[in-house]
Amino acid sequence: MEARTHTSTAMTGRLAGFRRVVVKVGSSLLVDPAAGLRRDWLGALCDDLASLAAAGADVLVVSSGAIALGRKVLDLPRGPLKLEESQAAAAVGQIALSRAWAEALAERGHAAGQILLTLGDTEERRRYLNARATILNLLRLHAVPIVNENDTVATTEIRYGDNDRLAARVATMVSADLLLLLSDVDGLYSAPPADDPDAVFIPQVPRITPEIVAMASGAGSDLSRGGMATKVEAAKIATGAGATMVIASGHEPGPIRRVDGGARSTWFSAVASPLAARKAWIGGTLETRGAITIDEGARRALAAGKSLLPAGVTAVEGRFQRGDTVAIRDSDGHTLGVGLIAYDDTDARRITGRRSAEIEALLGYAGRSEMIHRDDMALGQAGETAGPGEKDTG
Ligand code: GLU
Repeated sequence: MEARTHTSTAMTGRLAGFRRVVVKVGSSLLVDPAAGLRRDWLGALCDDLASLAAAGADVLVVSSGAIALGRKVLDLPRGPLKLEESQAAAAVGQIALSRAWAEALAERGHAAGQILLTLGDTEERRRYLNARATILNLLRLHAVPIVNENDTVATTEIRYGDNDRLAARVATMVSADLLLLLSDVDGLYSAPPADDPDAVFIPQVPRITPEIVAMASGAGSDLSRGGMATKVEAAKIATGAGATMVIASGHEPGPIRRVDGGARSTWFSAVASPLAARKAWIGGTLETRGAITIDEGARRALAAGKSLLPAGVTAVEGRFQRGDTVAIRDSDGHTLGVGLIAYDDTDARRITGRRSAEIEALLGYAGRSEMIHRDDMALGQAGETAGPGEKDTG
């Protein structure tokens, strides 16, 4: 099979060097309204994903198509669906969608893990942390997370509605360095090309200016909810959190390889590295919920870039939840920085000064070995202005 020869060849072009990649697949690519799921297209895409993984990248997919597949199975009329119809269509279609991904990835040696998210899972701190932990565990186990909005329970007020912004949220959640939106258009134009023959293609967007936002008017099609406007919204979220974002056409088989080889696509530049953006955002937290005092050994470990372990903590102040921002102080009371704490204040007090190996016995569950992970910490920057983009997630 021609496509299978691609499987082990790494990306060597424009996509070389990205280490965590979120690929968003639009409904109109995956589902033919008359014939249903495009299996050959999906197979070729999974060849591309396997190539990315073979090159050492973590790969995540945000896949639309549940509603489109379900409405075909249920034989619903064309045109906009009522909310309850989309919910039912999604319930039916998501099964088929997950199965197709699981089978296509298994043929290429990868496990797939289904993640269904609602708006609250990405915007509410504790749920955000849980969703993030599961996704990161899947990546650690070399499984490919297949993410979609949980359309069966999402209602009008509490839903993304489009997978472009959901994909951008997922990218910021896992500190991805690349978000690739595969869609039925090949990128951003100065005006909608269908309406304006003089529309100019924009290959590179170093910064999202009001002019760029103005170019991206117009809605989606019958099948896909996102138009160019939601893609530029997604770009604001993703680039602000340190990811490069690319819009490319997914029509031809093997679209990721094509982008790697220089196919026409619009590239939105990241404003910082994902980790720097995350740290800037943490450091920008104005309101801390508590404070952790640490001993001299821990202070030195933190200065050397290590995580904060319970053993190095001498005191805990305040009332806080897991994931809240706390100040980190040395034994003289100087604030060294801030961090997102992995325990609520009750549990933090219980494990203060204890070895990480004792956590399970002390708390009755196997918590994190770090009180504050180094990626969740910003030293010497307390009170700085927040980084753009990710401010309202945790
Ligand atoms: N979550 C929707 C689905 O799977 C698609 C949303 C979109 O097209 O952006 O059917």
